[in-house]
Formats: sequence, structure tokens, C-alpha cells
Amino acid sequence: MSGLAVYPGSFDPPTLGHLSLVDQGLTLFDRLVVAVARNSAKASLFTAEERVTILREALAGYDRVEVDSFEGLLVSYARDRGATAILRGLRGTSDFEYEFQMALVNRHLEPGLQSVYLMTDYRWLYLSSTIVKEVAAHGADIGDMVPPAAARALAEKFRKV
Ligand code: ADP
Repeated sequence: MSGLAVYPGSFDPPTLGHLSLVDQGLTLFDRLVVAVARNSAKASLFTAEERVTILREALAGYDRVEVDSFEGLLVSYARDRGATAILRGLRGTSDFEYEFQMALVNRHLEPGLQSVYLMTDYRWLYLSSTIVKEVAAHGADIGDMVPPAAARALAEKFRKV
């Protein structure tokens, strides 16, 4: 595979699981656009701008990766960016049902765009932004779950509360 893939998500906040998937994606694609969803149905802890800033710092050394945000339909954004694929991660069967549905809808909307799913590394199998937020909210150390920029942002957020 080659070309450009869009890796969309909430990234609220970005975790080491997300970054690991970027590394995996770069073995298949020439370029990746990590795209923060602005209109996710999920209520978010961080604004889209904050999530973009964290991702940009975490991925600063990656010259084949761009961080952006998007609003509206993912397939329209991916088409506008000239992407040939959408990259997503799978942690286990719990992710599968939803992802399968999304992939089929996106294929229906934009048949030329492939959805590519990569299995997470076993180290990040149980890691999610939701878990990170819960652990951080209770003041426990999340330094081995998220990049430093996200750890700082979480510490700041929960200090204020
Ligand atoms: P969304 O709300 O769109 O699911 P997330 O930020 O939760 O956004 O996830 C974005 C993408 O990253 C999804 O494809 C998800 O499966 C993947 N992902 C999330 N956590 C991990 C992880 N620990 N390992 C690998 N991929 C992950």
C-alpha cells in the first residue's frame, strides 16, 4: 500500500495506543493525516484545538504525519484531502461491531475509499482515552499510558477542577 491515509478519531486525549497505530500505519502508507473529529457525538474533555496541540507535540518528529481536525462527514474530508484510505485501530471484538458498521457506511458513501484496520499492539490492548481520563481524574500516574504532552494537559485539567 502507499499514498495518503486519514487516521480519524476523538483523541480525547491521545494515548500511546494511538501513537503506536501511527507507527504501524506508516509502514503501509507514505503519509498519514491524523484527524481530530470536531463533531463527535461523545462529550469531550479537551477542545479540538487542545487535542490538535497535544498530537502535534507528540508527533513533532514525524515528517510523514500531519495533524488536522475536521468537521462533518469523514468521507468528504478524506476525499478533499486526496486520501485513498481511512486508517482505524482494533483492540478487540468490542471495537468490531461499531467499526464494521462505520466501514460499510463509509464504503456506501465513497466506494473508492478503503477502510484499513490494524490490530493494536498487545501492550495497548486495554488502553483507551476513557480509561486514561478516569485514572487521571483520581490523581493516579498515567505517564506510561500517554505522551508527555497529554500527561501535562491532563494534570492541568484536573488541577483546575
Ligand atoms: P473514536 O471516538 O473515533 O473511536 P478514539 O480516539 O477513541 O476515537 O479512537 C480513534 C482510533 O484509534 C480508533 O480506530 C481506535 O480503535 C484507535 N485506538 C484507540 N485506542 C487504541 C489503542 N489502545 N491501540 C490501538 N488503536 C487504538
